[in-house]
Amino acid sequence: MPELSDRTAGFTDSVIRRMTRISNQYNAVNLSQGFPDFEPPEKILQRLAEVTREDFHQYAVTWGAQNFREALAKKITHFSGVDVDPNAELVVTCGSTEAMMAAMMSVTNPGDKVIVFSPFYENYGADTILSGAQPIYVPLIPPEFNFDAEVLEDAFRQKPKAIIVCNPSNPCGKVFTRDELQIIADLAKKYDAFVITDEVYEHILYKPNVHTYMASLPGMKDRTITCNSLSKTYSITGWRLGYTQANPEVTERIKKVHDFLTVGAAAPLQEAAVAGLNFGDDYYESLQQKYTEKRSLFLKGLDDIGLIHTEPQGAYYVLIDISEFGYESDLEFAEDLARKVGVGAVPGSSFFKEKENRYVRLHFAKKEETLDEALNRLSLIRKKI
Ligand code: GLN
Repeated sequence: MPELSDRTAGFTDSVIRRMTRISNQYNAVNLSQGFPDFEPPEKILQRLAEVTREDFHQYAVTWGAQNFREALAKKITHFSGVDVDPNAELVVTCGSTEAMMAAMMSVTNPGDKVIVFSPFYENYGADTILSGAQPIYVPLIPPEFNFDAEVLEDAFRQKPKAIIVCNPSNPCGKVFTRDELQIIADLAKKYDAFVITDEVYEHILYKPNVHTYMASLPGMKDRTITCNSLSKTYSITGWRLGYTQANPEVTERIKKVHDFLTVGAAAPLQEAAVAGLNFGDDYYESLQQKYTEKRSLFLKGLDDIGLIHTEPQGAYYVLIDISEFGYESDLEFAEDLARKVGVGAVPGSSFFKEKENRYVRLHFAKKEETLDEALNRLSLIRKKI
């Protein structure tokens, strides 16, 4: 057989997706890959049922159906205050996974540097490899997951093409303050770099934390490529609806990458999701309320068991400190947790650049009964592991 590409040789599969397979194998309560087990909003489902009998079965416009982009632009402006041209500044992608990849392919040449905060969502590592870019990792320091502005400026001195900012952060639950984002923005301007954001958890926040949109900071609209998705906001992770928001010149490039990679996101699903994009503020308030309750239930359960954990400010992940169990490898620990305790988790090492074996990540985007079952099982952890 001829040799396969160097580009993919160093790849491991996604640990997050692997842990879902392992959880299923052991019939574990799967709190590894972050997706809800509750229904999407009824109005979206009703519209989906109607759409199957309407004329949406062929390709939509490659960069997204017109009415979807218009509804999306309105929603973005409503929440961020940023004016968005639905024709020139948005590309609808297959999830924000494609959005991030298309953004990276559009702004970097092989060999270009890109700053990534560590811990980071594991796809960013693969995105840099696929686009040939070299990551410069800047630590977010536990327990607050703050960054050192000096260390960040050192990274910028290496003249990166872009910095990736996941806000609210997966996996550490950090919500960047306006001041922190301003530091990043000022450095991006000073060293002439793009800021590529991943804001898929924009609406999953715990009071008093608020989401600040990077593109809304003074002078940042044209320098920011926002990657986002409908997955988490409307509990439709399987629909694979994401988007990029960027200035017209960058968007032109992203459109091409997107067109040749995937042609387009599913047309009937775009049409059905417009119902969600048109929801009023009450929907987002109740989403926040729902996740606040899940967070309280889950964190209290972990406290009762005596597991040490992070306190997320946003998103729906917790890092559990597993040092007391004395494992050399968090991967082995996560396998044992699925097999012996019956709970699926992601080994923390897949999110850190630094050698870090101290954590596993659990998520709480689940029904109350699912979380109760997981907590019941976890209450036996010290007997079973
Ligand atoms: N963002 C989710 C996680 O971190 C799921 C990502 C995915 O598998 N596409 O678990």
